Amino acid sequence: MSLANGRHYLAIPGPSVVPDRVLQAMHRAAPNIYTGELPEMVEGLLPDLRAVARTGHDVAIYIANGHGAWEAALANTHARGDKVLVLATGRFALGWSEIAKRLGIECEILDFGKTSDVAADRVEAALRGDAGHAYRSVLMVHVDTSTSVRNDVAAVRRVLDDAGHPALLMVDCIASLACDRFEMDAWGVDLMVAASQKGLMTPPGLGFVFFNDRADAARGRADCNTHYWDWDLRVRPVDFYQYFDGTAPTHHLYGLRAALDMIAEEGLENVWSRHEKLAAAIWAACEAWGTDGPLQLNIADRAKRSCAVTAIQLGAPKGTELRDWLTANAGVTLGIGLGMAESGEEAWHGHFRIGHMGHVNSHMVLGVLGAIEAGMVALDIPHGSGALSAAARACAAA
Ligand SMILES: *Cc1c(COP(=O)(O)O)cnc(C)c1O
Repeated sequence: MSLANGRHYLAIPGPSVVPDRVLQAMHRAAPNIYTGELPEMVEGLLPDLRAVARTGHDVAIYIANGHGAWEAALANTHARGDKVLVLATGRFALGWSEIAKRLGIECEILDFGKTSDVAADRVEAALRGDAGHAYRSVLMVHVDTSTSVRNDVAAVRRVLDDAGHPALLMVDCIASLACDRFEMDAWGVDLMVAASQKGLMTPPGLGFVFFNDRADAARGRADCNTHYWDWDLRVRPVDFYQYFDGTAPTHHLYGLRAALDMIAEEGLENVWSRHEKLAAAIWAACEAWGTDGPLQLNIADRAKRSCAVTAIQLGAPKGTELRDWLTANAGVTLGIGLGMAESGEEAWHGHFRIGHMGHVNSHMVLGVLGAIEAGMVALDIPHGSGALSAAARACAAA
């Protein structure tokens, strides 16, 4: 006997829930990729993408996932043998550095661990120690999806400015765009990478690189650039096909159009505050559960938690048991504990994550939390009481 039948909720931190409106926009015959409606529609996507990134600068669109956007960002801005400073707060900045290394870029990694954000004083020391300005860029992740930490991007900009260091500030917003507040231009970000399948509510397959003039200027010496990743024609196309260096990702573009319409109709500020309020409900529940028993939020300080994803420690093997129970019995699938395996034997099974990015509302969040509580009861996992009413109160207070 299972209560899992009904609409399944994939509550993992990407791919996120795809709204019916996005799916319906994609359910259509293939359009002409040379003239007509599609080229006109794509012109209209660009200002809306810029608005979501809070930038007036360029955006190149790739048929790629986030890894492709990572590679595009580096290929356009670096030469082999360049040095970059990587600020690691979990799996994802390290993943970006792996791509850099394969391009022949030397990575200096400042590792802040798996439960902390970037500490500005350590970044400052590293930059001041680089008097010859060997670092061509600083790579950081706004929200690290493995740890659910949210880094202070503007603080890193201030450190760069105070140190008078010319390195580009390159930020991965794949998890945070249209979830956590992000202001590309106001925060002085030179380049930002994003992808379609998280806050942008569209299936995986589109990668985005937003870049300003400083990042564009670095392209001149980028000897690891290639025809496909080169952003030049993608942002300055003479013919429509050059936007994508080939056939346009037709159906994804229609899906993205619908998703951007939804964001514009709700209003970006409201989208951010919805994510904030829903995250607060999740934290309220987790904090109540954590008053008794093993459950702990991975990031202790509320001010440093992402509003898009929450990483939780439960102790091995309970994390995996709880995830399996929820899929089999409640119709909810939680995210695995990513990047935690190296913490020790079987540690991986002690973690799980809740994805609450994009097309998510209070009944979905309250449903996930109720299902987690049911799972902890069924599996005899001790936990504090009052979690669900605390979450309900948080939603009511919104
Ligand atoms: C999901 C994610 C990635 C990787 O994106 P893919 O589409 O899986 O390549 C990179 N960085 C962050 C912060 C992410 O959340």
